[in-house]
Amino acid sequence: MESRDDTIAAIATPPGRGGIGIIKMSGPRSVEIAERIFHPRHDSLPLESHRIYYGEIVHPGTKQTLDEVLVSFMAQPRSYTREDVVEINCHGGHLVLEQVLSLAISAGARLAEPGEFTRRAFLNGRIDLAQAEAVIDLIEARSAARARQAAEQLKGSLSMEINRLHDELLLVLSSLEASIEFPEEDLAPPSPEELRAQTGHIIARLADLMHTYDRGRRVREGACTVIAGKPNVGKSTLFNRLLNEERAIVTPLPGTTRDCIEESLVIGGMPLKLVDTAGLRDATDIIEEAGVRITGRKIDQADLTLLVIDGSAGLDGRDEELFNRLRDKKVVVACNKADLPGTAALEAIRGRFPESRMVAVSALRGTGMEELKEAIASTLLANGSSLPTHTVITTLRHARALEKALEALEHAERGLQNRIPPEFVAADLHFAAQHLGEITGTSSSDEVLDAIFSRFCIGK
Ligand code: GDP
Repeated sequence: MESRDDTIAAIATPPGRGGIGIIKMSGPRSVEIAERIFHPRHDSLPLESHRIYYGEIVHPGTKQTLDEVLVSFMAQPRSYTREDVVEINCHGGHLVLEQVLSLAISAGARLAEPGEFTRRAFLNGRIDLAQAEAVIDLIEARSAARARQAAEQLKGSLSMEINRLHDELLLVLSSLEASIEFPEEDLAPPSPEELRAQTGHIIARLADLMHTYDRGRRVREGACTVIAGKPNVGKSTLFNRLLNEERAIVTPLPGTTRDCIEESLVIGGMPLKLVDTAGLRDATDIIEEAGVRITGRKIDQADLTLLVIDGSAGLDGRDEELFNRLRDKKVVVACNKADLPGTAALEAIRGRFPESRMVAVSALRGTGMEELKEAIASTLLANGSSLPTHTVITTLRHARALEKALEALEHAERGLQNRIPPEFVAADLHFAAQHLGEITGTSSSDEVLDAIFSRFCIGK
């Protein structure tokens, strides 16, 4: 990464044709460079901060007009990067944008690296690392739930929670270290019981935060939802109904969905990977057997199983087998074929899945689908944590850092119990604080920063 004293420039809008395209510059020379290539139509230079100017981009050598543009200047520190930022709104053709960018570069700017604007915002203290990661998440969001989650993280909800815990930890650490370093000052050292109570409190809050990871990950990556049920109960029909397209082959013969079919969709604002599995049935040939094995594995890996039963038929041993496999798993029961006369089996199923939502649907007719979608989304969003729903751990990087902080604190707690010397306890607390700092970027290495910012596009 180059120094921050130079001025960077990039095309900030995606390639291709568009109504407008934006060239963005950040750094100490951005205004000077803009003023060399921009001629305001009605106003005079110098550019004032936080105003929009109308005019032309003119080649300083040939005096040729390249485009009619709007230019805005945001003086530091009131800008995205906390540096002087200039944005040039051009017409959206790529050639024009390339020409204006190369003018800016000949006038003294340097082409920005991927994510460099956001990296500068982080290095200049405008946002922390978790917020920078939220920027990528927001850009990549393909569902309303993921966008909402990213926007909350960008606002700083996660960072605030982590900073609170970090500060509490440092408070415990400072009282412990004061008693180690200045024993002659008659500072009453905090008792191991007192320290255990304080660390215990932080551990509980970290564990609570850890609980949100599953939910956060599901929203970020798409929850894996497996459709399972006996052959012929209507899984493929339901799968198609949910996807609103004929993707799987629907046939009245049992066992035709041999392998899994996966599709992505958004239900109730929640991104989903929907998997249609082979029916769980006695393996009658080798391919069918493979399908059954795959189904079992998919169920074990799934975030949610959509259990489909034929509400018009009775239950049998194969249903029981599946029910047993689904014990302790997140399940929504779709009681299909509600258009046909029902049986008394429903109460038995309710008894087997007392915690699960059970919805009567007809995949064939399309009834009950809204309620089913709502049941799927709300079951996936259910959260074992008492924290407000906007404070969520979404990435593996954050989860790992939290885990390491927790490990260090639990080690400290055991040490306190076993009355080990306070220096060792302090070392553990230091580790924990360092791992928490990795989330917000107060203690992240350059390698971590490089890995994060390389995920950005150029111009962000
Ligand atoms: P799968 O083996 O579980 O994937 O079942 P399919 O989706 O292939 O459906 C098996 C049969 O049940 C087909 O003939 C479907 O048309 C029929 N079917 C599916 N859903 C319904 C429904 O809601 N009502 C009725 N009456 N028939 C259905």
